[in-house]
Amino acid sequence: MTSLASQFGGHDAYDPNALPVELGRRLILDAVEPVGGIEHIPLRDALGRVLAEPVVSPIDVPAHDNSAMDGYGLCYADLAADGDTTLSVIGTAFAGQPFDGELQPGQAVRIMTGARLPAGVDTVVMQEVVRAADGRVTVPPGQRCGQNLRRAGEDLRAGLAALPAGRLIRPAELGLVASLGIGSVAVRRRLRVAFFSTGDEVVNVGTPAGDGQIYDSNRYTLFGMLSRLGFDIIDIGVIRDDPETLETTLRDAASIADAVITSGGVSVGEADFTREVMARLGEVLFWKIAMKPGRPMAFGRIGGHGSDAAWLFGLPGNPVAVMVTFYQFARPALLRLAGVDPVAEPALLGVPCATPIRKAPGRTEYLRGVLFQDGGQWQVRSTGAQGSGILSSMADANCLIVLGPAQGNVAAGDTVQVQVLDGLV
Ligand code: AMP
Ligand code: MG
Repeated sequence: MTSLASQFGGHDAYDPNALPVELGRRLILDAVEPVGGIEHIPLRDALGRVLAEPVVSPIDVPAHDNSAMDGYGLCYADLAADGDTTLSVIGTAFAGQPFDGELQPGQAVRIMTGARLPAGVDTVVMQEVVRAADGRVTVPPGQRCGQNLRRAGEDLRAGLAALPAGRLIRPAELGLVASLGIGSVAVRRRLRVAFFSTGDEVVNVGTPAGDGQIYDSNRYTLFGMLSRLGFDIIDIGVIRDDPETLETTLRDAASIADAVITSGGVSVGEADFTREVMARLGEVLFWKIAMKPGRPMAFGRIGGHGSDAAWLFGLPGNPVAVMVTFYQFARPALLRLAGVDPVAEPALLGVPCATPIRKAPGRTEYLRGVLFQDGGQWQVRSTGAQGSGILSSMADANCLIVLGPAQGNVAAGDTVQVQVLDGLV
């Protein structure tokens, strides 16, 4: 494998001491490749998993031409161009209970939504526009040949891929696979992600925090973010700022996981010690990213025992920085490792900003924001204090306000870009 440093160094804008967010994300995404391993599992178990193979439709969906409306099926050629047409109704076609007769000139059939089109029917008129009485139906002019029909195979065609490999399975995909009559799918094995916190001042929930100590919150936000992505997660705990412990822990983690996520120990004060340990394990690059919060971050590949190896994401220690760098860098890379293809960029939506924001150009800033509605118009405001240790600002937020490198101060009413944090699916 070529070294990451030489691979990344080929980019003109690559500067490990002032790395633009977009470039960092792209470099990481391009460096990693999906893990191997396929499982065949029952359809419902596949929610949140990634398709390892395309799902090929064995049937046309819908299987037959059918009606899109409750109404009357008829032959368009029977209708008068400029006046009413009265036809005799010879039967009813229900969904799941087809009408087997064939339409003759002057006839119509009562037809329900989803019912297969009887022979001779090429047009459906919705029931709201006709007059029906005594076994006859009167249809006004102005109909269109072929209206209100759903054609066989218009949703999915037999023999073609209904879903591509690499697709994350959400509720719509579950339903779509079921609509093909398929009850199990081939998915990639779950990604295994190990994580731990570092710091002599950091104590585990359950142990009283002494003087100068703080409770570990990063392992909880990481637990939440990784669980939501459906990975197999391995919580290694809090480890001391001690070179031997760090080395052993990283080596063990790299042996059991595809990716290892750490928090803390990469900031200026501690990077030298971490850097030295990581250099013994593989190739890890230490970056200063042109962003706030979350400037320091390490990325690379480390060896475990024997030939095992894992990708390493060394996130900063500050709780908000952990979440922001996770979402911007680790999340897309982990999805790619898990086999998702393509990994979509998070949507950026432009909305007016209700509050002014002070911002220096040159870096990307992520502010915790609240999207709210005022008089029917969506707007965003900052949650207030934005310190990178203030987790309450993250808990209050429903979006991140993303201010790009070129952006300076924002005046109230200016349009800003936001990334929505809560997803519907
Ligand atoms: P570091 O990058 O290790 O210097 O940490 C930066 C800041 O984040 C320090 O104030 C740490 O106390 C804090 N911090 C580090 N790890 C954690 C953690 N697991 N939970 C909460 N705060 C942390
Ligand atoms: Mg630390």
